[in-house]
Amino acid sequence: MYTVSDQKIYAMSKDNKPALTVHDGDIVIFSTSDCFDNQITDERQTIDQLDWDHINPATGPIFIEGATIDDTLKVTILDIELDKVGTMVAIPDNGVLGKLVNQSEVKRVPIINGYAVFHEDLKVPCKPMIGVIGVAPQTGVIPCGTPGEHGGNMDNARITIGSSLYLPIFHEGALLAMGDVHAAMGDGEIMVSGIEIPAKITVKVEIVKGTVITSPMLEDGLNCYTIASHESLEEAIYQATLTMTEILMNKLGLSFNEAGMLLSACGNLEICQVVDPKRTVRMAVPKSILPSLF
Ligand code: CA
Ligand code: ZN
Repeated sequence: MYTVSDQKIYAMSKDNKPALTVHDGDIVIFSTSDCFDNQITDERQTIDQLDWDHINPATGPIFIEGATIDDTLKVTILDIELDKVGTMVAIPDNGVLGKLVNQSEVKRVPIINGYAVFHEDLKVPCKPMIGVIGVAPQTGVIPCGTPGEHGGNMDNARITIGSSLYLPIFHEGALLAMGDVHAAMGDGEIMVSGIEIPAKITVKVEIVKGTVITSPMLEDGLNCYTIASHESLEEAIYQATLTMTEILMNKLGLSFNEAGMLLSACGNLEICQVVDPKRTVRMAVPKSILPSLF
């Protein structure tokens, strides 16, 4: 068992120095700050007091020995232990309704007995999830707040305890980093924050040898998912749908038309988030139809 706690990055890149080296099958605990880098501790704070250069930190990265560009990284989320208080914000011009937000506001949300206490009589069940999780991108330096083929800020509520995320490997060792846990988040994340909270994430990292993917995929107890992010929601929808169609053709031996019709019959196109620099969607297919991605 390994722990990563003190090294944080604000952008994903092949040039980030690993905080730790682990091996195929190792279990690693990531201590993560919230997306504001824990700068908000009081509802009287205002958004413009924040240091915006220190936003969306990810803990890591870790180097996975033996992970090469001919392989896929499998990250199984074993546990997410939440801190005691989460934070939400409303910011003018941010989120779906941003133009109607006149004044910024900070809200602290205590976590008590598995519920996020929004108001005394409005309790939201905690559904811990990981907002930012990814590897070093193929090229360039990508801020942790941006999602893409390498993962990143996908804000996918299905990346939660018990699910396995598959990420492409663009550089030796993969350089896995994660952060931005939410105690709960609705699909869409319409106001630009979930219930942002520091956490301890326990994951198992494995290498799927000899399998190459070009975008993130996910499996949980119920579904297999493809995931795509793009500036245009329409294009993200196209990519997630096309990738799943190709998987159905390969795994089930279907023609293109048949795979498309099967998706049309039982695939669920779901929104992850519509508020980050790129929008993220997922295409879900029940395991009764597609038992596994690989
Ligand atoms: Ca996020
Ligand atoms: Zn977040």
